[in-house]
Amino acid sequence: MRKNIISFLVFCLLSCLLFISCSKAYDVVIVGGTIIDGTGSKGYQADLGIQNETIIKIGEIEASESQNIIDAEGKYVVPGFIDIHTHSDNISDTRRKEALNYLKQGVTTMVTGNCGSGSHKVAEFFNRIEKQGIGTNIIHLVGHGTVRSFVMKNAAREPTKEEMQHMKSLVEQAMQEGAAGLSTGLFYAPGSYEKT
Ligand SMILES: [Zn+2]
Repeated sequence: MRKNIISFLVFCLLSCLLFISCSKAYDVVIVGGTIIDGTGSKGYQADLGIQNETIIKIGEIEASESQNIIDAEGKYVVPGFIDIHTHSDNISDTRRKEALNYLKQGVTTMVTGNCGSGSHKVAEFFNRIEKQGIGTNIIHLVGHGTVRSFVMKNAAREPTKEEMQHMKSLVEQAMQEGAAGLSTGLFYAPGSYEKT
């Protein structure tokens, strides 16, 4: 009998939880803003409903359909900006990991490793930021200057065949580990010593 009562109570609790989670259609609704969708088309007024971190509706949404309403009247609702040229590699520093200065400007993705300066130890870089958590998404470039300095120090000359091979293998490894590309800073040493 006692077992039955407990089962019944558990059933009621689960039903209630299910009801609560189903009763609101959206986790977050952004109302009254001007939507600029990033396709190049003109901005327009609409509400935006989000569920499980995905936009599932753009249109007219009742405020009662979510417990989290963000009033965006007089504001623009836009996709997160991508800053393609940052020197924010120190986002791997725990004191700077949140990147609030970027988030507050709407930047949600940063490209690091620019101007030939990006770390070539890409897996290590990603592991560190993955572990500590960061405020924005990161796209990382392996730095030509970093690779060259690692192999040749600051020598102002052509690389030997072996040095070139070593540099190529380091870039290849960095790409395998998730770098999105190679950055150069040909204006700066040691990039300025380099021929095409
Ligand atoms: Zn730069």
